[in-house]
Amino acid sequence: MKTDIQIAQEAQMAHIKDVAASIGINEEDLEFYGKYKAKLSNELWEKVKDRPDGKLVLVTAINPTPAGEGKTTTTVGLGQAMAKLNKKALIALREPSLGPCFGIKGGAAGGGYAQVVPMEDLNLHFTGDFHAITSANNLLAALLDNHIQQGNALQIDPRQIVWKRCLDMNDRVLRNIVVGLGNKMDGMVREDHFVITVASEIMAILCLANDLEDLKERLGKIIVAYSFTGEPVTAEQLHATGAMTALLKDAIKPNIIQTLEHTPALVHGGPFANIAHGCNSVQATKMALKLSDITITEAGFGADLGAEKFMDIKCRKAGLKPDAVVLVATVRALKYNGGVAKADLNEENLDALARGIVNLEKHIENLQKYGVPVVVTLNSFVSDTEAEYEYIRKFCEDRGCEFALSKVWEKGGEGGIELAKKVLETLETKTSGYHPLYADELSLKEKIETIAKEIYGARGVIYEPAANKQLAKIEEMGFGNLPICMAKNQYSLSDDAKLLGRPTDFDIHIREVYVSAGAGFVVALTGAIMTMPGLPKVPAADGIDVVDGKITGLF
Ligand code: ADP
Ligand code: MG
Repeated sequence: MKTDIQIAQEAQMAHIKDVAASIGINEEDLEFYGKYKAKLSNELWEKVKDRPDGKLVLVTAINPTPAGEGKTTTTVGLGQAMAKLNKKALIALREPSLGPCFGIKGGAAGGGYAQVVPMEDLNLHFTGDFHAITSANNLLAALLDNHIQQGNALQIDPRQIVWKRCLDMNDRVLRNIVVGLGNKMDGMVREDHFVITVASEIMAILCLANDLEDLKERLGKIIVAYSFTGEPVTAEQLHATGAMTALLKDAIKPNIIQTLEHTPALVHGGPFANIAHGCNSVQATKMALKLSDITITEAGFGADLGAEKFMDIKCRKAGLKPDAVVLVATVRALKYNGGVAKADLNEENLDALARGIVNLEKHIENLQKYGVPVVVTLNSFVSDTEAEYEYIRKFCEDRGCEFALSKVWEKGGEGGIELAKKVLETLETKTSGYHPLYADELSLKEKIETIAKEIYGARGVIYEPAANKQLAKIEEMGFGNLPICMAKNQYSLSDDAKLLGRPTDFDIHIREVYVSAGAGFVVALTGAIMTMPGLPKVPAADGIDVVDGKITGLF
């Protein structure tokens, strides 16, 4: 089998104007970045905004193994399969971060014969959106430190600065740093921190903003610090809003590229799925709904994080109504949840499968709580066996749940026909009664407890004293009506990454809570969540090279 990058580089790409034309976008509404990438113009939205929306399908997954279980692959393959069935479908994905590209996971353009291309561009600098976000983030940091240097009229308490610098790189030495060393003219000495760009609140804002005006308003609301008297200080008070918006004016436009089968894909924004909401931009999703009959989109991590936030943050806030959910499972991840070590996942093991399938069961139950019909798909690996497939198929069918085997990684769109037909049948025959899990009016604690009990299956929630204080302060500041963005590990339904399967009798521990006032959610951190990842001993970067002008080893 060829590697992802080999397959991607062998692809004969179509000119992006022809790909865009297939869903009725004229050349004049494209802003080209070379021949294979473009941004969609602001004018295009004006032209399509009164059209009826197509159907919205979310792709999510069970709790994964550390390698990722193929949500992007399935999303891309399902889009390709819909085109084979002559359906007007458009996929909407996140842009990858450079951090994982050079770290452990590698790229995020899908895999095998279900990929978007040009994959090297997408995985590296693409259309510069992340660089623009990095610049806007760091402009705000520079303005903040300069404000203190120039007399600190806002009385910012240097010990209560919450805004961090950012870089799109896994670089652990930047987690905790000291800035302002030197003499008086070199600034105020203080402890500072870097996060990876995808963890910047500006990334979340860009992805939740409805348009440029909304983006500007949200940027202004960012809380950067607290004053000596405990009052929040915002980006607006630092006069940073206009200049940040200027840096982001192109980054906010959705990007269009193609799949290996020349079908269109919107790829835009990429917030972390722990301290942010983990979905592509609202603008891209809304545009896709106007341009196609079926929009297929992905949310990061497992359904306990990605789908929960898609439903409770993105759809609630953007007024979106998902029509169906595709829940991706793999035999490997089910066995992993059944306690099999990573190295042994390729061996048939029906006992482990039976132990691990409770994880799938819990995710099916959870998604049904949102009133949205669920189709389970098994992303097939060549190491899977027929007996394992049949076990899972029967398990789903016994629970009245649609099931389809997907071979898109191996066969592209052709391998996704069974899944596409199941999804179409579901869209035609089942109506979605989508509603968020909890009401805006609940207290922050009630919301956290609802997610912990209903979605994770926890017994209760235990708050650190600091978290209790922070919750009280956030409600006092008037942010009690915001939805919760839970930051939790992705491997377990609990906050302990080692409790696999369907854990019971556990509590969720809330360590810290803060408000992302611009993004419009309250982040609740369980355990230690990494916002600036590090590199492993042998990073993926080790294997990347350029040979005869061609990038190799990117995956
Ligand atoms: P996710 O979006 O869930 O993180 P991806 O779709 O990015 O997962 O896939 C993660 C990795 O797994 C990619 O390298 C992809 O090529 C690989 N992969 C996905 N599906 C399969 C499969 N069916 N067989 C082999 N490898 C796969
Ligand atoms: Mg993915």
